[in-house]
Amino acid sequence: MARIVMKFGGTSVADLDRIHNVARHVKREVDAGHQVAVVVSAMAGKTNELVGWVQGMPKVGGPNSPFYDAREYDAIVASGEQVTSGLLAIALQSIGVDARSWQGWQIPIRTDNAHGAARIQEIDGSEIINRMERGQAAVVAGFQGLAPDNRIATLGRGGSDTSAVAIAAALHADRCDIYTDVDGVYTTDPRIEPKARRLSKISFEEMLEMASLGAKVLQVRSVELAMVHKVRTFVRSSFEDPDAPGMSDFVNPPGTLICDEEEIVEQQVVTGIAYAKDEAQISLRRVADRPGVSAGIFGPLAEANINVDMIVQNISEDGSKTDITFTVPTGDVEKALSVLEKVRGSVGFDAVQSESGLVKVSVIGIGMRSHAGVAATAFRALAEKGINIRAITTSEIKISILIDGPYAELAVRTLHSVYGLDKH
Ligand code: ASP
Ligand code: MG
Repeated sequence: MARIVMKFGGTSVADLDRIHNVARHVKREVDAGHQVAVVVSAMAGKTNELVGWVQGMPKVGGPNSPFYDAREYDAIVASGEQVTSGLLAIALQSIGVDARSWQGWQIPIRTDNAHGAARIQEIDGSEIINRMERGQAAVVAGFQGLAPDNRIATLGRGGSDTSAVAIAAALHADRCDIYTDVDGVYTTDPRIEPKARRLSKISFEEMLEMASLGAKVLQVRSVELAMVHKVRTFVRSSFEDPDAPGMSDFVNPPGTLICDEEEIVEQQVVTGIAYAKDEAQISLRRVADRPGVSAGIFGPLAEANINVDMIVQNISEDGSKTDITFTVPTGDVEKALSVLEKVRGSVGFDAVQSESGLVKVSVIGIGMRSHAGVAATAFRALAEKGINIRAITTSEIKISILIDGPYAELAVRTLHSVYGLDKH
C-alpha cells in the first residue's frame, strides 16, 4: 500500500464525461489498495472566462492594477476549482468510492499575502491523512489557499500543479502523478519535431530548465517545489484507458518520471530542446562604462516588473563607452522602453534599439557538466543551416540561443537531430 497524489488538469476535467473518466483513474488506484488524494484544476477555459469577467468590471486598484481588487479577483477565479472538486467527489461516490471535496481554506493550505500570485507556506495534512487512513479519497481544489488576511488566495496561472506537489510533500506521498493531455515530457515539442521522443525519466534540474525555457507541461514553481522536497513526480496522460494493462504499475507507470539525477542511470549529454517565442531584444548603444550603470538600468526595469532574461554586455573599446543588449517578453517592450527613457539622463546612453518577434532556443542536459564541445556543436549546426545567432547565454546545464522568429522550427529540428535525440 502506498500514498499517491493524483492531479488532473483542465483538459482532463473539461466536461462531465471526462470527470467520470477521471473518477475511473482514481478508482483504479483506490482498488489497488492505495491511499489517494486528488487535486483538480478548473474545467478547461473556465479560469480564462472568470478572469475575463473580472477584467470587465470597473478598475478598483488603479489603471495599472492587473487584478483590479486582487482579493476579489482571487475570490472569483478560485471558484472554477471549487466546482470540479465537488463534481469529481460525486462522480467517485457514484462508482462506489468514498470521497469528499476540500477547498484550500478547509485543509487549510496557508499561503502568503501575495493575492493573485501567492506562495504556499504551510499545509496541515492531518485531517486528510485521517480520512485517507479510513479509506476516504480527498478531492482537493487546486490553485488556491488561505492568505494571512483569512481570504482565499490563488497561486498564479497554472498553479494547481504546485498545489499537487505541495500536498504530496505535506502528506509524505510516495508519488505525485500529474495527469494531463500529453503522455509525458518529450525531448522537444512534438508539434514541431514529430521525431520527438517521450523521456522515461528527466532530472528535477533539467525539468526546471525545460519548464522555465518554454515547455508548458508543468508550472515552473511546481518543479522547484518537487526538487526541494524530492517529490517523485510522474507526468502521464488522463486520456489513456484507465484500466489498460500497466496503468496501475506502481514502480513504472506509463509517463515520464521527474526525479533525482542519481536515479537516472543512462544519462545522455543532452536531454531536450526547449524554445520560447515572442522574445524581444533591446540594445542600448554607447552606454557609459562605469560602476552602477547596470544597476541603474536593470533596477528600474525590475521595479516595473519586467522580466529581463538574457543580458549581453560588451567590453568597451576605449574604456569609456559600451553596448548592452538584453531580452524581454515582446509584451513588455513598450513598458521597458518607457522605463529606459526615464533613466536615460542618469545612466547616459546614445540610442535605444529594439526588435520583436525573436525566439530563444535552448539545449538542456546535465551531461553538459562533464562534456566539452556541446555549445560548439550547436553553433556549427545552426551555421550550416544559415541561422544567425543574435545572443547566447549559458549555464552549467543549458545553452540558450536567440535567433530570428522565422527560423524557430528549423533551429529546433536541427538541434534535436544533431544531439541524436531523434534516435531510438
Ligand atoms: N485553473 C488555473 C489556471 O487555469 C490553475 C491551473 O489550471 O493549474 O491557471
Ligand atoms: Mg496546467
